[in-house]
Amino acid sequence: MKAIITFHSIDNDGGLLSYSPAQFSYLLDHLADRKIPVLPLSQLLRSDIRRGVCLTFDDGMVSVFEKALPILRERGMPAHLFLASAAVGGSNQWASQPGDAPVYPMLDWSQLEVLSDNGVLIDAHTHSHPDLRDLPDDAIREEFQCCDEAIKSRTGRAPEYFAYPYGFFDHRIKRLAGEHYHASMTTQLGYLQAENRASALPRLDSYYLRSPFWVRDIFSDRTRSYIGARAAMRAVRGKFWNSSHA
Ligand SMILES: [Zn+2]
Repeated sequence: MKAIITFHSIDNDGGLLSYSPAQFSYLLDHLADRKIPVLPLSQLLRSDIRRGVCLTFDDGMVSVFEKALPILRERGMPAHLFLASAAVGGSNQWASQPGDAPVYPMLDWSQLEVLSDNGVLIDAHTHSHPDLRDLPDDAIREEFQCCDEAIKSRTGRAPEYFAYPYGFFDHRIKRLAGEHYHASMTTQLGYLQAENRASALPRLDSYYLRSPFWVRDIFSDRTRSYIGARAAMRAVRGKFWNSSHA
């Protein structure tokens, strides 16, 4: 079994995008107890790797540095951060953000450099976090290039992986992302399956992993059933209900 887990902010605010430091420590400790390896995407996505988890953070909230990094470092665990590069040093109030979205302060470049030096791979989430479906091909490519260049110039590593802003994509956007990145993350709820395409990988949103009951063994039959039921409910509703802020 394999899974990619999505986080946004590690804090005690209790909001839709929050996962508490205590929950985060609890989850990581139970992964270790169950001997579930925490891997970077370059390893997790290999076909010969059969078991593991990847930790991903979207957007670039400052709590990834302040709260998540110490917990990751204590355990020597890697992670990926999908960064919206125009928001660095500012807030998540990008132009396409709904007015009711919670406001978070974002990482600055010095914090991103420390994260990069300590096992957090900085990957791409576009420059300005637009709904890519609204943009022509050239503007989408510019979003990718601008984000990649900013990250490479500050960390020395060009992004290899991508997360779709708000989880919004279509065939055209998948194709364009595939020209730039090894693999792209969605907000589709699910475990990794052999048949998944690299251009649209499902993830487990940590919103569904708040209860210790589900977290004790995320690969157990009961947690897989629970995630399957939640994914089916989301499909019935016909939209990813929390994707508008992601
Ligand atoms: Zn986002």
